[in-house]
Order: sequence, then structure tokens, then C-alpha cells
Amino acid sequence: MIKTYGYTDNTQLSPHFNAQEFRCKCGKAHDFQIDDDLITKLEALYAALNCSKIIVTSGFRCAAHDKSVGGSGTGQHTLGKAADTCCYGQDGQPISSKTVCCKAQDIGFGGIANITAAYIYTHVDVRSGSKWYGDEVHGNSSVTDDFYKYFGGEDMKGIDVSVHNDKIDWQKVKAAGIDFAVLRAGYGKLAKQKDDRFEENYAGAKAAGIPVGAYWYSYAMDEDEARQEADVFLSVIQGKQFEFPVYFDLEEKKQFDLGKEKVSAIMRAFLERVEAAGYFVGLYSSASSLMTHTADDIKSRYTIWLAHWVDKTNYTGAYGIWQHSEKGSVDGINGNVDLDIGYKDFPTIIKAKGLNGWGKEEVLPNPPAPVAEDGISVEVTVDGQKYSGKLNKA
Ligand SMILES: [Zn+2]
Ligand SMILES: [Zn+2]
Repeated sequence: MIKTYGYTDNTQLSPHFNAQEFRCKCGKAHDFQIDDDLITKLEALYAALNCSKIIVTSGFRCAAHDKSVGGSGTGQHTLGKAADTCCYGQDGQPISSKTVCCKAQDIGFGGIANITAAYIYTHVDVRSGSKWYGDEVHGNSSVTDDFYKYFGGEDMKGIDVSVHNDKIDWQKVKAAGIDFAVLRAGYGKLAKQKDDRFEENYAGAKAAGIPVGAYWYSYAMDEDEARQEADVFLSVIQGKQFEFPVYFDLEEKKQFDLGKEKVSAIMRAFLERVEAAGYFVGLYSSASSLMTHTADDIKSRYTIWLAHWVDKTNYTGAYGIWQHSEKGSVDGINGNVDLDIGYKDFPTIIKAKGLNGWGKEEVLPNPPAPVAEDGISVEVTVDGQKYSGKLNKA
């Protein structure tokens, strides 16, 4: 929402921003406007960069002032939707605009640009409509749709693992330089099909300080089964926190035999169900099935974890993680392991959105219904709590 402030209004808009910082610098004492979404996102930027301060060098501009500094007189600054900033780190030094642009992209600013050759000032705005990711050192047009690629940001090295990788020494994996791991949580539609090493891998990776995501391997042949799988997946991951997305993994031949339309419907059923429960969801898929068996709306709506075991993929769609090999070798893991590259700062994105168990009040999990036979005593452990009792057939 855009609000109007009087010239001397010194309302504290948020912990780190005061209205005064945004008033027009033309020299005339006139009212100014600020979109509160701009302040929300600037606070998110402050947190994501671990700033010591953010200086707003230009906030609202009247049309005359906008023109006097080389603008069109109708740009985002004149709408109260833009700020030119210098972001300072804990060492008191300006943070590179290249880093700021990447984080601003993760946070979801619609317009972002480096604005000086020194790469220390960054324009951000909360425009509606199409994006502008610019670098004014190279003119005024959009230069990229991904600052990470444009500025050659460091990619994250990852692995994905399941019970098939045996027992893993996560401290060694961390020491080997692995930045993230996607863990198989289980498969199919029965609770007992939780991956036998999921709890152990989750605890081990967390203890080693490795951010994690999760995936569920599907055998669903229709939307109903996909929703059953989603519910089991949700019960397995409940109460945990994931810095990376949680993925739907569909790759069985008999599923692809159902055809693109049906396969896409199955994907949507699972993804919508898990997303509605507060998760950042994605789709794991091979390059070929993305091209032949996945509807366009899914590829644009959900983050893609691309599987393509080649040196250089020719897949042209967007993806956040690329699984580039199934024959990796990483200290701490016996045998081959799948290798991945991460291109997005998912931990920042997911925590900023409060998804995947972050930023929400702690909710104690309900004990899952144990799968066992009539009259047998069972004991299950959920997040360290033991539940036990005799089962009766309902
Ligand atoms: Zn003015
Ligand atoms: Zn600007």
C-alpha cells in the first residue's frame, strides 16, 4: 500500500527505516509517498545481507527532481516504490552491489540495478509488471533474468542421498566442501515407506551445519494417489526445518506411459497439496521428461530440480538445482553419490517467506498412525518423543 507523508513526518516505518530517509531531495518542502512493501523488502534485504546499516541515497522523487537527476519524471521513484541504497556490512564497509543485486533478486524486488561503476550503490524497487534487472554501467535496459548467472556468483555444491547410500559420515561430508543435501524422505503412499535413514541423515546433516531439502519418490498413477503420497510425505517431514525446497520425484516408466496430460495432473495434485501445507515445493525431473511429459504451467510455477547427467546441459528452461552426475565421490560416503549444483540462495528465500518450518510457531506433531498388525505392541519415536501402545483394528 502506498502512503503519503508530510515533509517533516518522522514516522519510524520499521526497525531500520525512518520516513525522513525517503523524502524528496529537490529542496522544496513537499509531501512524499512510500509503498510499505518497499520497506518490508528493504528490511528483508537488511537481514539477508546481515547489514550494519543501509543508507537510502534517494527515495521518493517529485517529477521535476526525477528529471533533474536524469530520470523520465514518471519512474518508480516518483511512485514511492524505489530506493537507491548503499548497504554496509558488519565490517562497516559497503557490500558489493553484485551481492546486493543477488539477494534483492531472492527477496523478490521487481526492479534491481547496480547504479555506479564502483558497484557499491544499488537501486531496488517494488514495481508491478515485468522485471528490470539492470546494470547502469551498461545502459538502462535489463541485462539478465538472473543476477547469480550475470555476476557469476558462486554455485553451491550439493548431494542427494537415500538409504542406498548406506551410513554417512556427515562431518566428513561437510569438511569435503558440500554446501547442501537433499534427503530422500521416502516413497509411495504408505507411512512405513519412510526412508530408513531419513531421520539419521536429517540429524547428521543438521549437526554438521549442512542445509537440507527433502524429496518424495512417487509411484502415483492418478491424482488421488498423488494426494495420498503428499499426505504421507507431510507426516514424515512434519516438525522439521528445511533450508532447501521439498521435491516431488516422478520418474517411473509406467507413470510416463500415462501421457503428458495425466502425468502433469499427478504432479499438480502432489505439489498443490504440499505447497498448501506451507512448503516451498519443487519438481525433480530429467531434462527429457521436462520437455516431453511436463506441462508449461508446472515448469513456470514450481522450482525445478533438473536431472541431466552430462558435462553441459542443453536444457533451456529455468531450474534452481542441477543434478549433473550420479557417479560422484565424496569423502564420508561409501560408493557413488549423486552430485548437484545449486544456483539460488534457497535458505534466504525460504526463511524470508517463513516456509518449510521456518518462522512459525512450534507445533507438536501428532503421532503418526503406526503401520502394524492387529494386537501387536508398537513403539514409534517422533522428534525424540516416544509413543507406544497396542494396536487394535479400527
Ligand atoms: Zn521534490
Ligand atoms: Zn533508483
